[in-house]
Amino acid sequence: MKAEKTLYVVVPCYREEAVLPETARRLKEKLTALMQAGKISRHSRILFVNDGSKDRTWEIIEELHRGDRLFSGVNLSRNRGHQNALLAGLMTAVQRADMMVSMDADLQDDINAMDAMIDAYHNGYDVVYGVRSSRESDSFFKRFTAESFYKLMKAMGVDIVFNHADYRLMSRRAVEGLAQFREVNIFLRGVVPQIGYPWTTVEYVRAKRFAGESKYPLKKMLSFAFDGITSFSVKPMRLILFLGAVIFLLSLVVLLWTLIARVSGRTVSGWTSLMCSIWMIGGIQLLSLGVIGEYIGKIYAETKARPRFIIERVLDDADEE
Ligand code: UDP
Ligand code: MG
Repeated sequence: MKAEKTLYVVVPCYREEAVLPETARRLKEKLTALMQAGKISRHSRILFVNDGSKDRTWEIIEELHRGDRLFSGVNLSRNRGHQNALLAGLMTAVQRADMMVSMDADLQDDINAMDAMIDAYHNGYDVVYGVRSSRESDSFFKRFTAESFYKLMKAMGVDIVFNHADYRLMSRRAVEGLAQFREVNIFLRGVVPQIGYPWTTVEYVRAKRFAGESKYPLKKMLSFAFDGITSFSVKPMRLILFLGAVIFLLSLVVLLWTLIARVSGRTVSGWTSLMCSIWMIGGIQLLSLGVIGEYIGKIYAETKARPRFIIERVLDDADEE
């Protein structure tokens, strides 16, 4: 049998003191079973990334690490958002692991799907996407907004896996590939398919968050969706171009109409059409400028190339003397 591979489970945590102890317990159980089954090496770890939480999240991670070397931790210097926290964890783990599984701290993603992911890894797949086969446990609102999100992304030409969140396994070379994507506004679900390498999916049923509340309120979800689209597609700009073309054609008709009206001497009324034109064209122009501005804002952030995260501390027994 080939040598056992090392797995790092990367878990971004933002204000997760309510779920962490239970999550740690369940993950430990899972990894211990996987080790006993000879599926992963004894050097495998659970890596919690504290995304600048103000609550006891980091203290809990420190306690876990002190109590059991199975638990590792990364502390970010401040809150950088789910995607950056996950990236920080992956970049830390890639130095030590052969494969990495990313998942949320609330264990809404079924940890038992990991077995199938690891099997797929051994069968030669570099990326294994966890796909939700059902969303019955989500509220109607969450389900509706989430599914609309995937449809909108598709319509905008972004290549993402339907109903896949950030629960996935990646091989070391896939994460090394990811490290070469230097973009500041990173949208992992869009970037990962672009790395290439053989990939497959594993289905699971999504559970409810067992404690604490969602850290993705509507406002964050919308900005996440918007970010995803503007990071991967210029379709919104193309829509503006199309809109401009249609309005231009319309204006030719209106021009003809005004000339005819002028010649035939019927030019008195027109307040209504004038007001409509001014407000509508003005509105469309502002909207278009706003969309273009979004892209320019992205270029601005990318050219500055500021760090995506700053690691304050890493707790991992490989680092200890
Ligand atoms: N998260 C994070 N930083 C943030 C917001 C969220 O690291 O700024 C983490 C959070 O701790 C959780 C994961 O991202 O592990 C997904 O968040 P949540 O479960 O609240 O989202 P939902 O499942 O409701 O979409
Ligand atoms: Mg959740």
